[in-house]
Amino acid sequence: MTKPTNNEIIKRLTLQKEIFGDELFISKKKRKTSIVKEPTVKFEEPALFPQNKEGWEKAASLDQLEKLICDCTKCRLHKGRNKFVFGTGNLNADVLVIGEGPGAEEDKQGLPFVGRAGKLLTDMLKAIKFEREEVYIGNVVKCRPPENRTPLPDEMETCIPYLKKQVELIQPKLILCLGLTAAKGLLKKRESLGELRKSIFEYEGAKVIVTYHPAALLRNPHWKKDCWEDLKKFRKLYDAP
Ligand code: URA
Repeated sequence: MTKPTNNEIIKRLTLQKEIFGDELFISKKKRKTSIVKEPTVKFEEPALFPQNKEGWEKAASLDQLEKLICDCTKCRLHKGRNKFVFGTGNLNADVLVIGEGPGAEEDKQGLPFVGRAGKLLTDMLKAIKFEREEVYIGNVVKCRPPENRTPLPDEMETCIPYLKKQVELIQPKLILCLGLTAAKGLLKKRESLGELRKSIFEYEGAKVIVTYHPAALLRNPHWKKDCWEDLKKFRKLYDAP
């Protein structure tokens, strides 16, 4: 039998496609498939419009949100919690500052950035002409991780929806992420802090800048110079028309 040419193969396949559609033709003898009547599938509501929102997702204010989530037990961090650290500041702030998670002092007082790193944060904000009360300060996780360790990915995943809801309610113009954990958590980025510092990101209509965490600056004061550049960039963005 002579080998068919490419053109003949194409013609045969085209013909076959016309007859059998996309189903590949197999001679009747070998054909094992049979037409099975499709079972009726009950129509499921598309997940695009979830019906079962949790109560806190419907909160209309930060106060309401705090009341609804302050007894959260969704992740292991609640077990060591003294106080839930929701966040604090101007409810209509243009600027949202995001840290990693409460430390010992924050856990004791129930307020973010009230320890040594917090004092430095206040000075950093002052240096670019923001009063602490003028901005809103929150964290990626609301309960203190043991020994001040970095929050684990599942703890962050569990807690970040609360932070997202805070962003939705505050609607800041600018967000300052302090450290890699805050940046990773909010922006879902995998680059190094050095890389992230180079860019301006967008999150839900807000411009986002990433800089060093004040606790890291306390341990490595030589990073303060670079941080100062980030802060000036942040202020310039805020002042831009
Ligand atoms: N470090 C943080 O990231 N957040 C705080 O609230 C305090 C220290």
